[in-house]
Amino acid sequence: DLTLELSNIAKNYNVGQENGVNVLRSVDLKIKAGEIVALVAPSGAGKSTLLHIAGLLDTPDTGQVKIAGQDVTGLSDRKRTAIRREDVGFVYQFHHLLPEFTALENIVLPQLANGVAAAKAEAHAQDLLTRVGVAHRAAHRPAALSGGEQQRVAFCRALANSPSLLLADEPTGNLDPGTSDQVFAALMELVRGTGLSAVIATHNLDLAARMDRQLRLDDGALVTL
Ligand code: ADP
Ligand code: ADP
Repeated sequence: DLTLELSNIAKNYNVGQENGVNVLRSVDLKIKAGEIVALVAPSGAGKSTLLHIAGLLDTPDTGQVKIAGQDVTGLSDRKRTAIRREDVGFVYQFHHLLPEFTALENIVLPQLANGVAAAKAEAHAQDLLTRVGVAHRAAHRPAALSGGEQQRVAFCRALANSPSLLLADEPTGNLDPGTSDQVFAALMELVRGTGLSAVIATHNLDLAARMDRQLRLDDGALVTL
């Protein structure tokens, strides 16, 4: 039972032009259900490109992407979007919460968009907020929350529709080191508690060491750290 399988992925930008870059050469990756993998890469190595391909936001030039056993490589944009909404959660360095809505509403809205009834969506949102220790902030808008609290809410939003895969790009990268540590611990607990698979990109080797496996993106391919 593999949550994510990437086979022989290649991606180039501006092929044949002077500014052409061969970002991914041959990426192979298998993530088992419940596995949390660290992706360590220097800036410009292609980490975002890889996460976008894994999360069906971008397509590779060659190679195959499978999510929860399903080959999604040749599917239409509409089908890929449907699978992404159902199966993949994203977290970025910046929270990207909607400023005019409360923390709770930010987690409820994606569920309503997926056809979940309001009462059920609210209960689920409350449960997620409780798990990351910010239930008491449910009625606050993002601007009233600390940076760490904003990221905790963003984690809950990413898990709102119970995806099988979480993709995180420097999820604690904009927090000070002390806060980053605590917020990261909350993320790990949330992911472990839900049995989710995750690929978490980070520059922080201490955080990477707390995951199940550490991979580095090196010259367009993944190597084990
Ligand atoms: P990282 O996330 O590791 O910093 P990216 O995946 O964002 O790396 O980018 C890898 C390389 O590909 C960089 O050299 C970047 O400039 C280039 N790149 C990324 N996106 C595009 C694009 N849409 N068009 C052209 N080049 C791109
Ligand atoms: P951090 O250590 O994460 O940077 P802050 O010092 O920013 O935290 O905030 C400490 C506490 O004050 C947090 O619980 C946060 O939610 C609350 N807080 C910060 N700014 C506001 C605000 N504008 N309105 C209400 N509460 C706030």
